[in-house]
Amino acid sequence: MDRQFFSGKTVLVMGLGRFGGGADAARFACDAGAKVIVTDLSPPEKLRDSIDALGASGAIVLHLGGHDPADFERADIIITNPAIPPDNQLLRAARKNKKVMTSQIEIFFELCPAATIGITGANGKSTTAALTAHLLQSAIGAGGIDYSGVRLSGNIGNRPLLGLLDEIHSHDLVVLELSSFQLEQLARIEKAPKVALLTNLTPNHLDRHGTFEAYCAAKENIFRLQRLDENDPAVSIFNAEDPVACRWFEKYKGDPGRICLKFSPDDLGSDILSAFALPGRANISNLAAAAAVAHHFGLSDRVIARCLPDFKALPHRLELVAEIDGVRWYNDSIATTPQSTIAALEALDRPKILIAGGYDKNLPFEQLGRKIAASAKAAVLIGSTAAKIADAINDCPDNRARIELAPSLAEAVALARKIAGPGDVVMLSPACASYDMFDNFQQRGACFVELVKSLSP
Ligand code: ADP
Repeated sequence: MDRQFFSGKTVLVMGLGRFGGGADAARFACDAGAKVIVTDLSPPEKLRDSIDALGASGAIVLHLGGHDPADFERADIIITNPAIPPDNQLLRAARKNKKVMTSQIEIFFELCPAATIGITGANGKSTTAALTAHLLQSAIGAGGIDYSGVRLSGNIGNRPLLGLLDEIHSHDLVVLELSSFQLEQLARIEKAPKVALLTNLTPNHLDRHGTFEAYCAAKENIFRLQRLDENDPAVSIFNAEDPVACRWFEKYKGDPGRICLKFSPDDLGSDILSAFALPGRANISNLAAAAAVAHHFGLSDRVIARCLPDFKALPHRLELVAEIDGVRWYNDSIATTPQSTIAALEALDRPKILIAGGYDKNLPFEQLGRKIAASAKAAVLIGSTAAKIADAINDCPDNRARIELAPSLAEAVALARKIAGPGDVVMLSPACASYDMFDNFQQRGACFVELVKSLSP
């Protein structure tokens, strides 16, 4: 598949989405000379940013607020959004009608001229990908390694994948954050990154994958589909503290044409640790992961330690918003799984008032309930999962946390303010996606930041 393949064809982009992927695919197909139809179940008012990102082009037609089967019949090529389950009826019919099915990530892997470093996992993907890109870019800047530059893209949402293609040189390194949905799509073309890393694996997205096993199988594609070549080996990097990853390490380590590596916080020297500012053990694990990639590309501990102080934390990840009357307020809106909220509770060692709850992805809350019961002063719960999380906390016989339910984030913030005393921490770390109350985690985080700022004396 090349750009020419799209020229003169009718391309249907199924799922404009809110994260830029649909707009990126539509612009790419349009620039390649296709007639493009973009469809999405959501109405235009829910997709404002994505519609703006499409730009004004007469060659892109929008059919929003539902999918029209006629569009699927008319199309030669269908580019599907990773969020759409592969067993969707319209897609099944299109496959039967021999339409060409593809996706943004497939097109990227077909056309990317440079070596790719793929980062996946349940938690810590963005932080690890951004850290990895930062270390490699700093080393290139200092003349330490022989590549022309580093690009960071994929699920991390800073630069859309296909829009980046024209700028990528064959001697660049491309760091990609990859979701389980994107890895599912890569199975169709049997491609995976040259260097693949799994941060960790705990249940996530079970509303879509059904079981933890199915979720793991999608994640395993990142290793299973790597091209093995003894003259130019694939690199597979596993977390030594993760039981599933350790099993996979054993499974893959004997493959000819593959180098298997493990990372662990125990590998990190004191010079690296003291140069790193992000809070919590989970971030140390992410640092160990990024350092494993950096070591593979020849960076020394000394170079890594020198680059780390310039790394800027990503927004909405345990971000200190304000200190008001001795209470520190943290925005961790990105925490959309119980595991990431557990990591956030472990990261801060002051008395904690946790604001959590949101959209229900069918994830288990027992472990989070135990963590809150044992380590939080109070939990203020919002959204669809509020009662489930409250039950999980109440099921712990030795619970010491006060539990409150709030009908909105604004009321949760007001309640948290009443409960918190000097020296305490209030953290929004929801353990859930935001879609029941907000467009996305960024909007939820921004709303929290605004509410907190309005509390200032
Ligand atoms: P992702 O891209 O996988 O969502 P992020 O790096 O954006 O991961 O971090 C998301 C959330 O997960 C944050 O709340 C952070 O505190 C938590 N987190 C980060 N790294 C880890 C990790 N290694 N293990 C568990 N939780 C983590």
